[in-house]
Amino acid sequence: MKCPVCNSESHEIIKTKGKNTKEVLLKCNECGNTFRKTIKIPKMVECRIIISKFEESEKKRIQLYPDEVLQVGEVLVVDEEKVEITSLENNRGGRVSTSQVSQLETIWASSLAGPARVGISIDYGGRILSHKVEVERDFQFTVGDVVKMKRAVFRIKSMKTITSKIRKGSATAEQIKRVYGRPAGSNEKFKYDLSSKIFENEINET
Ligand SMILES: [Zn+2]
Repeated sequence: MKCPVCNSESHEIIKTKGKNTKEVLLKCNECGNTFRKTIKIPKMVECRIIISKFEESEKKRIQLYPDEVLQVGEVLVVDEEKVEITSLENNRGGRVSTSQVSQLETIWASSLAGPARVGISIDYGGRILSHKVEVERDFQFTVGDVVKMKRAVFRIKSMKTITSKIRKGSATAEQIKRVYGRPAGSNEKFKYDLSSKIFENEINET
């Protein structure tokens, strides 16, 4: 938007009115001239979003501008809940990592609210003790950590994250699917206790 007097594009907005088309009153920063412009504001469209949280998923609708471009990994707010886009399904049935809203059929997302659930499997030479724990999303697990969980004290040997299996280093709970451990020596000091974090409704998978 250029100032009709001096052609400068630097201005400040003094007043706006209207909904779908906005009439704005601008003041040129160069010459001080005030002028009006009418801007078209695209109507928002409703888009289907499927939000997964643990094993459940919920269908919701979100209002977005049709020319907005979404990307996998982006965080949206749906009914005051933060969600992260995990996949985008376009109206040709394809799964894409980036798309304009007008070409979208469904947004797939996972909830960022509440704690993360992590599976723990301790291998007692073939007998596996499994539990699921609920911890803060940014809780950090490190390979080598000695951990207490009820009567078990174990050392983390490896971890399965969303993208890979790791045998050294750390990851945060929200990236981890499962932690694998082996019993630790009886006199080893544990770094943290997960006993109170056990989420009891787990279906045991061994
Ligand atoms: Zn001007």
